[in-house]
Amino acid sequence: MSQYRSFINGEWLGTTSTLPNLNPSDLSDVVGEARLADDALVADAIAAARHAFRSWSLTTPQQRADILDAAGTRILQRKEELGTLLAREEGKRLAEAIGEVGRAGNIFKFFAGEALRIGGEVVSSVRPGMTVEVTREPLGVIGMITPWNFPIAIPAWKIAPALAYGNTVVIKPAEAVPACATELVKILEESGLPAGVVNLLLGPGRVVGEALVASPDIDAISFTGSESTGRAIAVKCVTSGKKVQLEMGGKNPLVVIDDADLDVAVEAALDGSFFSTGQRCTASSRLIVTSAIHGQFVAALQRKASELVVGHALDKATRIGPVVDDRQLQQNLKYLKIAAEEGGQVLGGERVERPTRGYFMRPALVIGTDNTMRINREEVFGPVASVIEVADYEEALAVANDTPYGLAAGICTTSLKYASHFRRHAEAGMVMVNAPTAGVDYHVPFGGRKRSSYGPREQGTYAREFYTVVKTAYVKA
Ligand code: NDP
Repeated sequence: MSQYRSFINGEWLGTTSTLPNLNPSDLSDVVGEARLADDALVADAIAAARHAFRSWSLTTPQQRADILDAAGTRILQRKEELGTLLAREEGKRLAEAIGEVGRAGNIFKFFAGEALRIGGEVVSSVRPGMTVEVTREPLGVIGMITPWNFPIAIPAWKIAPALAYGNTVVIKPAEAVPACATELVKILEESGLPAGVVNLLLGPGRVVGEALVASPDIDAISFTGSESTGRAIAVKCVTSGKKVQLEMGGKNPLVVIDDADLDVAVEAALDGSFFSTGQRCTASSRLIVTSAIHGQFVAALQRKASELVVGHALDKATRIGPVVDDRQLQQNLKYLKIAAEEGGQVLGGERVERPTRGYFMRPALVIGTDNTMRINREEVFGPVASVIEVADYEEALAVANDTPYGLAAGICTTSLKYASHFRRHAEAGMVMVNAPTAGVDYHVPFGGRKRSSYGPREQGTYAREFYTVVKTAYVKA
C-alpha cells in the first residue's frame, strides 16, 4: 500500500495521524494512506515557499520553461498509468481519467510557452523626456486549495501558471485525492524543480486549508471547490489583503429549442449531465426544452440514459463510474427525494449493487419540474439532471438566466439567429452551441459569473492576471 506524505522544501514528511484512500468502485481496494500534516508542517511549507521565492522569482524564462516542458512530457508519457491511478482514487471511468491526465500534461506544455511570452509595454509619457514602462512581476507565494473532482487537472492548471510567472506554491489538495497530487509533485521534482518552489500539504481543510488562508506569508489564494467554503475564504482574504481567486459551483442550463437536431441535443445532454458521474462544476444540470420538441427529447434521453452502463471505473464497458463517496451519494439521493416531494417525476436514480462494493447509482432524469424547485436552484453535483418545459426561445433564455450561478450555458439549435442571440445574452462565463456545457479546451480562459466565480479567470493567457502584479516605471532620459 502506498504512503502519501506532504512535500516540504524537497522532503517527504508527515505525522503519525493517517487517513486511508479508498477506491469508490471497490471499497476493499485501499489505494493508499495519507500521513496528515499538522500546524508545524504547514508553517514549514510556507516558510520554504517564502525562502524559495527569492531565487525562483529571478530565474530566467528559459529555466522555468524547460522545467514545465519536461514535467508536461513526463505526465503525457505516463498518461495510462496515472489515469488508472486517478480512476482508482476518484472513480472517474478510465477513458475520462486518461483524458484528464492528458489535459494536465498539455497545460504544463502550454505554460512552458507562456513563461517565454511574458512581455510588457512601453508607453509615451505625457511629460517631456520621460518614458513609461509597464511590466509584470511574480506575485509571491500562492496558496492553492483544490477539490476532488479533477484531482490532477485542477492542481495542474493552478501550479503551471504560478511557476511560469515566477511564483512559489503551497498546495492543499482535497483529502479524498492525495495520490494524484503526490504523483504530480514527484514529477515536478524529477523535472528539476528546486526544493521549496512547490510544497504539498496533505490534511483536512479545516486545519491545513484554514492555516494557509490565515498565514500572513501567503500572498494569494487560488481556490476551487464549494460555494460555502469559497465565500468564507474570500472574506478572510479580503480582510487580510490577500489576492483571491475562486471557482465554485454551477446550475448550468442546456437549452434545447424546437429546431434543434434531436440526436445532437440528446448527445449533448447525455454527456453534459451524466459523464464523469455528473461531478463536474460545468455539468448540464438544468435541461430547458421548448414544448414542440420536449416529448421526443425526453423519450430519447431517458432511453439513452437507461442504457448507460454503471460500474467499476476500470471496467471498459462502464460509462458511468461510482459517486466519489458515501456523503456525496447520500446528497444525490436526498435531492431526488426533495424533487419528488416538490412534484417532479424521477426517472432512474436508483442506488445499484455491483460485484464490488462501491457507491453506484443510476443516472437520474427529473421531469415535470419548474425553475423554482430546489432541484433547479441548488447544486447537486451528481448524475442528476432535471427537465424544465418552456413555451419558446424567449422563455428558455429567461429561465436559463434565472439562477444565482453563471458558470456555463449551452443551446442546441440549428438557427444562427438563436445561437448568436444566446451567445450574447446567456449570463455565463462560458457558452456552448450544440455541445455539452461540460468539456472545455485547456488553452483558453475558464470561469464564470455571479456566484460561480470570483476574481480573475483561470487558464490560457488570462491566468497571468492572477499570477502577476503590474509595475509602472517612469524613466527620465
Ligand atoms: P469543498 O469546498 O468541500 O472542498 C474544496 C477544498 O477546500 C478541499 O481541499 C477542502 O479540504 C478545502 N476546505 C474545506 N474546508 C475548508 C476551510 N474551512 N478552509 C479552507 N479550505 C477548506 O468542495 P469539494 O472538494 O467537496 O468539491 C465539490 C464542490 O466543488 C462542488 O460544489 C463543485 O461545484 C465545486 N467545484 C467547482 C469547480 C469550478 O471550477 N467552478 C471545479 C470543481 C469543483 P478537504 O479535503 O478537507 O475537504
